[in-house]
Amino acid sequence: MVTNDRIEHLLRDEAARILAVTEDRPEISRYRIYLSDFPRADILGMSIGHRRIYISYRLGRRALNSDRHLWLLRQTLAHEIGHEIAGHADQTQISFNRSSPVRGLTNRDLGLPWYVIYQPYSLEKELQADLEGMKYWDRLQWDCSIWVGILEDFKRQNYVGDSLHPTQKRLQQASRVCRPQTEVKGAREVKLGQTPFSVSRPSLLSYQVRQ
Ligand SMILES: [Zn+2]
Repeated sequence: MVTNDRIEHLLRDEAARILAVTEDRPEISRYRIYLSDFPRADILGMSIGHRRIYISYRLGRRALNSDRHLWLLRQTLAHEIGHEIAGHADQTQISFNRSSPVRGLTNRDLGLPWYVIYQPYSLEKELQADLEGMKYWDRLQWDCSIWVGILEDFKRQNYVGDSLHPTQKRLQQASRVCRPQTEVKGAREVKLGQTPFSVSRPSLLSYQVRQ
């Protein structure tokens, strides 16, 4: 774990902003967000349950000066908070958000003590965490095309992910959720990219109900 006042301040602010639109709003003060200098640069974040989340120090540092990395940080936070709120974690399960090809993570890669058991989530839960995260973005009226764009960037960089974080599947899901939808009332079709945020936007909640 590393400390840096400016980055920690940014993390707290961004996490609080996301948490404020979640079911965990009353529990914001119980969240602990840590900076971690993961030995492997491709790990962006990790949630270990009990409202404890680790964020890559490198990502946090870059987010101070780069909009692109700030949005990547917001995606990572939303994804990890999604795991926490969906109740995916328990003491033996840890989740990751990764940015480059990973084969078989070990405790050493994570800087975890040997006695912590690393048990990844299922693909289903990883995709669900993305869906949860996108739901929070929607409530914040953050443009979901940025979320999609991050995954498209992964793809452009030939980052295919791994069996539990397959870029292609994450991108497919995100594109489906973010695509322009027809408004329920009236026949007018509202395209996200062409409308201001204040106009009725696709509800991720109703998307989930249809699943
Ligand atoms: Zn995850």
